[in-house]
Amino acid sequence: MDFRFTEDQVLLRRSVREFAETEIRPHVREWDETQHFPTELLPKLAALGLLGIQFPEEYGGAALSGIDYCICIEELARVDPAVALSVAAHNGLCSSHIAMFGTEAQKRKYLVPLARGEKIGAWGLTESTSGSDAAGMRTTAARAGACWVLNGSKTFTTHGRVGDTFVVMAVTDRSAGRKGISAFIVEKGTAGMTAGKKEDKLGMRASDTSEVLFENCRIPADQLLGPEGEGFVHTMQVLDAGRIGIAALAVGLAQGAYEAALAYARERKAFGRTISQFQAIQWKLADNATRIEAARLMTYRAAYLKDRGQRTTLESAMAKLYASEIAVRAADDCVQIHGGYGFVKDYPAEKFFRDVKLTTIGEGTSEIQRLVIARQLLSR
Ligand SMILES: Cc1cc2nc3c(=O)[nH]c(=O)nc-3n(C[C@H](O)[C@H](O)[C@H](O)COP(=O)(O)OP(=O)(O)OC[C@H]3O[C@@H](n4cnc5c(N)ncnc54)[C@H](O)[C@@H]3O)c2cc1C
Repeated sequence: MDFRFTEDQVLLRRSVREFAETEIRPHVREWDETQHFPTELLPKLAALGLLGIQFPEEYGGAALSGIDYCICIEELARVDPAVALSVAAHNGLCSSHIAMFGTEAQKRKYLVPLARGEKIGAWGLTESTSGSDAAGMRTTAARAGACWVLNGSKTFTTHGRVGDTFVVMAVTDRSAGRKGISAFIVEKGTAGMTAGKKEDKLGMRASDTSEVLFENCRIPADQLLGPEGEGFVHTMQVLDAGRIGIAALAVGLAQGAYEAALAYARERKAFGRTISQFQAIQWKLADNATRIEAARLMTYRAAYLKDRGQRTTLESAMAKLYASEIAVRAADDCVQIHGGYGFVKDYPAEKFFRDVKLTTIGEGTSEIQRLVIARQLLSR
């Protein structure tokens, strides 16, 4: 085992951190308050390779490893979890699904512009009546000659309004259950696909989230992604990898909250001394720093195994579960250490507190992670 970062990884962390500090931090509050999706940031993210982090250079990507990916997501989330969520959804869901299961022609046509950051990706699995129970989806795709015709709607789609390339799961054979679900690539502007309601969210407000509606949306047959009936199985594999990204996001968010709390504790005075001198505050800081380090190691281990081509269903779910739950505690303690100032928008604490809740919900709730972990343990 070698726990050291390579020189390249140290440099990568430094450059993403500097980027986040200069290009993102000054706008965090405004983007959050106005629910502004920062399209102006996209060319800068693309220039750093952050919109195609793990994809091979031949498909327009930066060809970085899974651990490098975690470093990038962490550093973005440390400053603005909403930007990190958008980057993670673009890379880890839509683009990844095409990279993992697309044909050569689909990768050339769709993955290259996604990885270069010329197009933004969205991934539609969840529906209003099926989130955790994703296989209970109602959206259908019916074959009609040389086309597929999609009908239904998706809920909570990250980039539902701003996305260019959508990967959408739909039922192609109701009688086949999970084996009757297929994945499709749909391009923005296709007749019959429209963006629905934009969600007014508790947190992650700069990340665009909306409904996507399909009404007799006709797409060419070659936009079926992967074999017919394999969409659900592929989705689970996409989520195994995607959850490592959400774990990294939670680690970065927790790190940001911890650092904000530490800085405040060093400055704020009560009873004639800084509050950092009270043991009650020190223990909060110590516990959070310890939990963050543990979550980071679990996340990197899952990424390491994925880089070696191993199945990581168990490790990804454990990392996502643990990292998201310790991040909730870090954000809570951050508010508590700030006292009344943790409750107002002049300090970053309240935004971390709002943003963090997504990490225990998105890409599978904590309850679903426990279910996945238990199934893995019981099947061995
Ligand atoms: C900001 C944001 C961005 C998102 N982005 C995307 C996206 O890009 N693409 C996409 O497809 N989806 C996206 N989602 C959807 C997200 O993945 C779902 O919200 C999540 O999977 C939970 O589904 P649900 O909301 O329907 O909750 P439900 O499934 O209705 O769950 C409600 C509660 O019941 C619990 N529960 C459900 N089943 C069980 C069980 N078997 N055992 C124990 N407890 C259970 C859950 O854990 C939860 O506590 C996003 C959501 C948000 C909030």
